[in-house]
Amino acid sequence: MNVFAKIIAGEIPADKVFENERILVIKDIAPQAPVHLLFIPKEDVKDLQCLENLSLVSEMVEIAKSLAESMNLKKGYRFVTNVGSDGGQEVPHLHFHLLAGRPLGSIS
Ligand code: AMP
Repeated sequence: MNVFAKIIAGEIPADKVFENERILVIKDIAPQAPVHLLFIPKEDVKDLQCLENLSLVSEMVEIAKSLAESMNLKKGYRFVTNVGSDGGQEVPHLHFHLLAGRPLGSIS
């Protein structure tokens, strides 16, 4: 079981920001920016390439927009997912990062 599956199962703790039946949002344990959230679908999906239910993506985008509004991220944010080894994915369970609170620069 990967770390996000364990968090979803309640086997290890996480700092939860939002939760519904399909999606969990937590604070990243090693934040790369003042705001660093992880959007994790509860469905067992390895990455974006394996995802068949694309409505999950639009739901995560809706939640990201809503949280950005409530957290007053007026200067912007980045919402990204890493896919596979070249994409820099470490945890093999689909998740999106929301980063904000400092200038993030361009993507290399
Ligand atoms: P990725 O490289 O896209 O797979 O991102 C995995 C992210 O999960 C990294 O930013 C880690 O810091 C984060 N992470 C790993 N373990 C935990 C945990 N137990 N709680 C919260 N975030 C975690």
